[in-house]
Amino acid sequence: MLRQRTLKTLTKAVGVGLHSGQRVELTLRPAQPDTGIVFRRTDLPLPVDIPVSAQAVTDTRMASTISNGGVKVHTVEHLMSACAGLGVDNLYVDITAEEVPILDGSSASFVFLLQSAGIEQQNAPRRFIRVTRPVEVREGEGEDLKWARLDPYHGYKLGFEIEFNHRVVNSTGQRYEFDLSSGQYSRDIARARTFGFTKDLEMMRARGLAMGGGMDNAIVVDDYRVLNADGLRYDDEFVKHKILDAMGDLYLIGKPLLAAYSAFRSGHALNNKLIRALLADQEAFEVITFEDDRRAPAGFAQPARAW
Ligand SMILES: [Zn+2]
Repeated sequence: MLRQRTLKTLTKAVGVGLHSGQRVELTLRPAQPDTGIVFRRTDLPLPVDIPVSAQAVTDTRMASTISNGGVKVHTVEHLMSACAGLGVDNLYVDITAEEVPILDGSSASFVFLLQSAGIEQQNAPRRFIRVTRPVEVREGEGEDLKWARLDPYHGYKLGFEIEFNHRVVNSTGQRYEFDLSSGQYSRDIARARTFGFTKDLEMMRARGLAMGGGMDNAIVVDDYRVLNADGLRYDDEFVKHKILDAMGDLYLIGKPLLAAYSAFRSGHALNNKLIRALLADQEAFEVITFEDDRRAPAGFAQPARAW
């Protein structure tokens, strides 16, 4: 049987929110089978739980925000991506502010935290959402066109193409495909950092955004070059970060997907629209388990590789 996974023990980190600039403590704790991933705001007079789901996503400007009533957690996508990449099903995420810490701007720090706590199998079958027919969402036309889609696939792979109309970004790889069966999430995707353009930064700061952002936790690009002293971590770090984000955004559906995701210029909003469109079409998916590991896609029964 392909089993659900959680952490062996708890682990903590301290950082700042990318947008709020606020100091925040994060504690990742093991959770019972079928709990899913639950964010818990522990700074409030009474703690409030926010279980992840497609419908819990209430804001997708700049980052993915989930809510329960008026209580929010911003920028959940990088931690969610690490959970998707390592196959963590059940987890409590205790957090002392409204935003997940940005740490190094990628999901590598979360991978490190999860790996160092250790991942263990639980006595319950892992439930997958298997896409059975194509689902596609689109926005805009001509130069503004964006789309994202899910197709049936025995496994989980993501293909992404970016188009930023920016000379620095254009000079890097524009297209990448990642297959989770490779077992190489940590090596090939997790280290890709979020990025920002200096021309947008002032505008964002004026709106109270990116207050915690800087070269420690983002690739910063002006009109001509990458400003970070060490340059890029991957030649195609920009498109890889979009795949990292998509894995986190899609995992908010609450279960691992069996599908081929492909996207052109998608982002948090369209990714959320895509999982909502999938769930709205009963004919387009089924929930399955693998009683026999050998029937699972290649690589799925093995623990995810560290680096
Ligand atoms: Zn991101």
